[in-house]
Amino acid sequence: MVTSQNIFAGGRIDRAAPRRADPAAVAGWLADAGTRLIPVWRGRILLTDQDGDLRLAAVPPRTNWPDGGPVQWPPSTERTVVFLGLLDDVPHFAVDVSDLEQPVAEAVCAPFGRFDDLRMAGGALPVDDANLAAYARGLMEWHGHSRYCGHCGSRTMPTDGGHIRRCVLETCAAPHFPRTDPAVIMLVHDGESCLLGRSARFHTKIYSTLAGFVEPGESLEDAVAREVLEETGVRVDTVTYHSSQPWPFPRSVMIGFHARAEHQPISCNDDELEHALWCTRRELRARVAADSLRLPHRYSIAYRLIAEWLAAE
Ligand SMILES: [Zn+2]
Repeated sequence: MVTSQNIFAGGRIDRAAPRRADPAAVAGWLADAGTRLIPVWRGRILLTDQDGDLRLAAVPPRTNWPDGGPVQWPPSTERTVVFLGLLDDVPHFAVDVSDLEQPVAEAVCAPFGRFDDLRMAGGALPVDDANLAAYARGLMEWHGHSRYCGHCGSRTMPTDGGHIRRCVLETCAAPHFPRTDPAVIMLVHDGESCLLGRSARFHTKIYSTLAGFVEPGESLEDAVAREVLEETGVRVDTVTYHSSQPWPFPRSVMIGFHARAEHQPISCNDDELEHALWCTRRELRARVAADSLRLPHRYSIAYRLIAEWLAAE
């Protein structure tokens, strides 16, 4: 069994990849009165309170959207709809309603929930809800930036339930596949101390693990070593995989590692970090207790990497 404690991961959705290539099957699922339609508005997800617990909200498939009516497969308007899969045999779709002005989108969805920031709310959602929300958000982000063919510049249209966009020019017809950007994130330690850094973009007092995008021609281990060297001047010896986390902000997967390094002086060479430090477990606990240092959000993989290292004493 696949296990991951990282938020957004581990959902049970059956993506039904072989079946979603059949337009009749997708149209049939969309016409099913029991289908759940998950609206995405400018990256925000529809959420609702259910007996005090935050849940992913859905609207019925026959919901009438201004300027388009109910969604259909294949899509009859510019409004993107994607088949996410089957969860407990219930078809799940996402629809991007970003073309609607905020009051209009909110008014249509008001009986079902409110649009919220997934980055802030994701940690409070049940596993399947958080996973579906991340899946829908990441896929819609890709659709929004893939409307034209990178080969010939013609329009592209969704096929395969929204998991491929195909160029409409017959002589080209290039397929374009959803993109996920791999990023490495690593807790660097020397056995006694860990290496944490803070970006000027972080909220006050927050220190976190180092991280960065994988570049062409690199293995994940190469990317870990390069990012740590670029950001702090520290050379790592061994790199060990930990776990990964879908991170749909906008469309990444965070690949987590522990990396071992000799204790070396720090020099923040590039503009990524404004400060970095080595910190023993005792120092880190004391700083957090005194609120002179704050750790990243509890549901981030960065927090988990740090917390597990702290607990491994
Ligand atoms: Zn093309």
